[in-house]
Amino acid sequence: MASSVIGFPRFGMDRQLKKATEQYFSGKIGREALRLVADDLKRSQWTMLQNAGVSFIPSNDFSLYDGMLDTMWMLNAIPKRYLELGLDDFDTYFAMARGYQSKAGDVGSLGMRKWFNTNYHYRVPELDAETTLSLRSTDFLSDYRLAKDMGVETKPVVIGPFTFLKLARHADGLDSSHFVEQMIDAYRAVIAACDEDHVRWLQIDEPYLVMDLSDDDIALFFAIYGAILELPRTVDVLLQTYFGDICDCYRAVCDLPFDGIGLDFVEGRETAALIEREGFPGGALLFTAVVNGKNVWRCNYDEALRTLASLPIPSERIVVGTSCSLLHVPYTVARETRLSVEIRSRLAFALEKLEELAELSSLLGKPSFRDDVAFIHNRELFQHPLSGCDGALRHRIEALRPEDFSRKDRRAVRRESQKQRLGLPVLPTTTIGSFAQTAEVRQNRARLKRGMISSQQYEKIVRMFIKDCVRQQERLDLDVLVHGEYERNDMVEYFAQQLDGFVTTDDGWVQSYGTRGVKPAIIVSDVRRPRPMTVPYISYAQSLTDRPVKGMLTGPATILNWSFPREDIPLKESMFQIALAIQDEVLDLERAGIGIIQIDEAALREKLPLRKADWKPQYLDFAIDAFRLCHAKVKAETQIHTHMCYSEFEDIIEEIDAMDADVITFEASKSRFSIVDVLRSHQFQTEVGPGVYDIHSPRIPSVEEIERHIQRLLEKIPADRLWINPDCGLKTRNPQEAIPSLEHMVSAVKNIRKTLGGLR
Ligand code: GLN
Ligand code: ZN
Repeated sequence: MASSVIGFPRFGMDRQLKKATEQYFSGKIGREALRLVADDLKRSQWTMLQNAGVSFIPSNDFSLYDGMLDTMWMLNAIPKRYLELGLDDFDTYFAMARGYQSKAGDVGSLGMRKWFNTNYHYRVPELDAETTLSLRSTDFLSDYRLAKDMGVETKPVVIGPFTFLKLARHADGLDSSHFVEQMIDAYRAVIAACDEDHVRWLQIDEPYLVMDLSDDDIALFFAIYGAILELPRTVDVLLQTYFGDICDCYRAVCDLPFDGIGLDFVEGRETAALIEREGFPGGALLFTAVVNGKNVWRCNYDEALRTLASLPIPSERIVVGTSCSLLHVPYTVARETRLSVEIRSRLAFALEKLEELAELSSLLGKPSFRDDVAFIHNRELFQHPLSGCDGALRHRIEALRPEDFSRKDRRAVRRESQKQRLGLPVLPTTTIGSFAQTAEVRQNRARLKRGMISSQQYEKIVRMFIKDCVRQQERLDLDVLVHGEYERNDMVEYFAQQLDGFVTTDDGWVQSYGTRGVKPAIIVSDVRRPRPMTVPYISYAQSLTDRPVKGMLTGPATILNWSFPREDIPLKESMFQIALAIQDEVLDLERAGIGIIQIDEAALREKLPLRKADWKPQYLDFAIDAFRLCHAKVKAETQIHTHMCYSEFEDIIEEIDAMDADVITFEASKSRFSIVDVLRSHQFQTEVGPGVYDIHSPRIPSVEEIERHIQRLLEKIPADRLWINPDCGLKTRNPQEAIPSLEHMVSAVKNIRKTLGGLR
């Protein structure tokens, strides 16, 4: 039985590509050196895949920066402003990725968006009246050729025309239909180039097919592929889908002469039923996805083999594969020697998933696979839950009642008692939580980790930072202070390290975008809070000042969404477990006399299902409940804040209001005024602090600029509901940027207050 891999991680096991690319950016190495690192990496990965027995090995899934960016390049969709810089190909490519500011000109990078429901971000293509799509070169085959030179036959991977058009930003009043003919010609040329090189299989990725599709979308898909596939060809074409089922267009797909169709059985709830109901085209191979490419747990062979056996398709036409590119998981469990053997035996990162594919494909061919050691060994893993998954929390969750999700007092009552307690001026000023993570702050953490200082010494230094930060904020005359988050490496990892039920990895890097990676924690068992996580720091900060200090927590949706979740219990149950732990922390902070508690939900949207009908029942209903669970029990006088970034919450504005926080601060620098209109039209009840300047840029905004900005906000939002703050934490900004910006923000507010007068 054959096996297939859709795509593989790109950084390299030692993140050598990331490091080399960053060295290239900073001028430490030249492009030839970068290319060598990339080629070595690709070669070693092909060898790895070949040794693992993978039958369909991908090429061109690799990228120096991003696959969508490469597709823009391949299709000649290069916006004019980058071409006008007059740079060579290599530098033009990176100008699109990162922006360019030097002798030749000054242009920003292309937009960036989340890749479907993953934490990977792609660069957004721009198509306008000046765009003419065409196959720019046959470079998409250069990796195929490189692999062939070492004797490895690969299947080149390209992102398909439909997904590309659907994800592009269209301008000049044109839509996808304008580009149909150009796309047909371009992809016919792709196929012709494959034929020329005697490529056996070409994989065309069309993940957009798992989205909600209109009749026009399906017609567009059909028109493009009908034309591309009607010409004679020698290369076999695999249509690869992932991240869900393709129930809206399954018929159209089956009606087209694809040689292989890749369908997702992991996230695609309807996939098996679709095949059962509608059949499968006679001549085609079915590329099944049974090994989860997005999570880190071992595949349950019994379940996977049952799924495959139930398909009405002869096994010689089935190829086993991963549910999506392995880009979304780390390289190997082998490096995580700090983890217990019990946990390691249950985990499968990219390399272990290759072993799983090999085992599954060999088992599939055996009539008596149940007696096979690989099968028996795998079944044993799933017979017992991991230690720490005792179900005791389930009773606590099942016993929750509606009142556990609702503050006792209505907003108006809360507002009044908070006003009495806090005595804040109109347009209160605050920040989002973190202050600069300077070299000294990072060094303190690193020295503790390496055992160079004791934990007492470490704590003493953290307190010193906190004290400086509080004094600084008093000098700035901010109204609501923060402790600065100096003890945190990351807003999720910090809590994951404090809570039972999580493990963190040493080397579990996953690409987030370009050269940036994240190291998600893994939820391995029931989540409990063994002891307070933030109370000592916050209380210390509060003891230094008469002004209110905000307690700073990360919310349950964000903690869950930026971790690898368990697969043995529903997401909802995990999220509620985390919420109960956060609730304990909230109540401890309240008991310690903290009057304002902020529960960040930066990543609330992250696991929003791809299909709109699933949004509420499959996610939002419980994500909002989980947040409410965190704060429902606090007193009326305790003010609950939340913070969100990555805008795009206009379409879930009602749910955000239903979180029932007292105040929400959010990032709105890109869509500032449209969001404010939405707040108004939905009669948003929560007090709001739409960031008044962009902290993602080193620019220092002037007093006048911020003043003008606040004036505009005041046209739409009543003064007694408006907070003034930057749009996100200041962690990534150095003090030389952060402090003057905050000074200007406070001066601007003071000028405006003079015109408003009075207390809140
Ligand atoms: N409180 C966090 C901080 O200030 C929030 C970070 C975020 O929203 N991404 O850094
Ligand atoms: Zn933020």
